[in-house]
Amino acid sequence: MKFKTHRKCGDCTACCDGRLSTTIFGYKSVGRPCHYLKEGEGCSIYKHRPKDPCKVFECGWLKDKHFKYPEFLKPNISGLLLMDWKKTKSGIPYIIAVANKNQKYNNDAVFWLLNYCNDNDLNIEFILQGVKYYIGSKEFKKYFKK
Ligand code: SF4
Ligand code: SF4
Repeated sequence: MKFKTHRKCGDCTACCDGRLSTTIFGYKSVGRPCHYLKEGEGCSIYKHRPKDPCKVFECGWLKDKHFKYPEFLKPNISGLLLMDWKKTKSGIPYIIAVANKNQKYNNDAVFWLLNYCNDNDLNIEFILQGVKYYIGSKEFKKYFKK
C-alpha cells in the first residue's frame, strides 16, 4: 500500500527568503528576502502572487509524497531548503540542501541527510553559511572540483 502525504507550506517561507533567485514584479531577490515578504506575517500579496515561481515551486520536502523525508526536514524546522532532483550538465543527479546564511540550521537534519544519501548512494550539495560541500560519488565530486 502506498501512503500519501498531504504536506502544506503553512507558516514556512523558506523559499521566499532569498535562497532562490527570483524576480517578482521587477524586484530581484538573490541572497535577500523577497520584497513582498513581511517578517512574521508571510507574503503580503499572497492572493496576487505570481504563478511562477510562487504558486508552482515545491521544495523537496513539500513534494515528497512517500515519506522519504521526515517531518523535521520541513525547511522552517530544519533550516534546510531541499531541492531534488537537480542534474549537472553531464547528467549526474543530485539533491541540494541550502541554509539561510542568517539563520541557524539543524545539525541533526544535516546528519540525517548525510546518512540517507550514503545509504542510498545519492549525491548531495550542501550550501551552509555560503560554503558549498559536495558529497557523493567520485564523479559527482570531480564534476564540481573544476
Ligand atoms: S520551502 Fe517548501 S514548505 Fe517552505 S514555503 Fe517553500 S515550498 Fe513550502
Ligand atoms: S511574492 Fe510572496 S510567495 Fe512570492 S516569493 Fe515573494 S513573498 Fe514569496
